[in-house]
Amino acid sequence: MTKRNQAAGLRVFAVANQKGGVGKTTTAINLGTALAAAGERVLVIDLDPQGNASTGLGVPEEARHVSTYDVLAGAAALEQAMTPAAIPGLFVAPSTRDLAGLEPEIAAAPNRAYFLRDAIASLRASELDRAPADRLSYVLIDCPPSLSILTLNALAAADAALVPVQCEFFALEGIQQLKETIDFVQASLNPGLEIHGVVLTMHDGRTRLSNEVATEVRSFFGQKVYDTIIPRNVRIAEAPSHGKPLLLYDHTSAGSKAYMDLAAEMITREAATAAAAAAKAA
Ligand code: ADP
Ligand code: MG
Repeated sequence: MTKRNQAAGLRVFAVANQKGGVGKTTTAINLGTALAAAGERVLVIDLDPQGNASTGLGVPEEARHVSTYDVLAGAAALEQAMTPAAIPGLFVAPSTRDLAGLEPEIAAAPNRAYFLRDAIASLRASELDRAPADRLSYVLIDCPPSLSILTLNALAAADAALVPVQCEFFALEGIQQLKETIDFVQASLNPGLEIHGVVLTMHDGRTRLSNEVATEVRSFFGQKVYDTIIPRNVRIAEAPSHGKPLLLYDHTSAGSKAYMDLAAEMITREAATAAAAAAKAA
């Protein structure tokens, strides 16, 4: 696997789906870890007041000294919230319950959807002071299960959305709404936003339903669906209670392999995108 050219700058992904329990947090944790294991430098921004990504990456509540609430409330820079997590090259900007109280505090601010974008812009600028090998290459934003101002901040700040879809009966329910939100953000807050990919999660190859849902999601999203499918795997669900990403909890599990494959697929897609952009510029 080739490393992304970090001099090419940071790529920011919002892991978004307003449905709860579809695998957003699990994907942010384990894709982040897999990317870091592949040699990338990765920051996971926990934008869910529940803080599950922070816990799952091994940062307990008492260690969340500077949180995403502090960052969005303008009291701290994102760099200050960056906490080393799980494995070298991986960082988390942890969240606390305070984040749930942010919305009414910023509701009247004209730039309320841009707090995270501005914080990431400062981070990008400060990264330029580091040697290229020490710069972050990926930011993954773990969104809450809602289309709240927090999710809008994530979509306004992101280069692309990464959408986990659970292989279950109501999988496509709500996807239309998410697509409309992404279209709205594209038309207003962030014209550069695209859907990077849709990742099928909790797939059970033994059931006809899982396979039918996978087919249906592919016919809706076409090429946007990643080839890698995340299987339903009990080890994935067990890992967070040990405060470890799956790769550290059980690197031989089917779930670990799937998230490593997803990271490889992502890096390949990114390289293709960068090559296409370079060819266009030449
Ligand atoms: P979201 O962030 O979208 O609400 P989570 O990532 O928290 O969803 O996942 C919901 C629940 O499903 C969690 O308990 C998680 O451990 C479990 N889970 C997620 N992905 C898998 C999987 N591939 N196999 C088994 N359990 C999973
Ligand atoms: Mg979550």
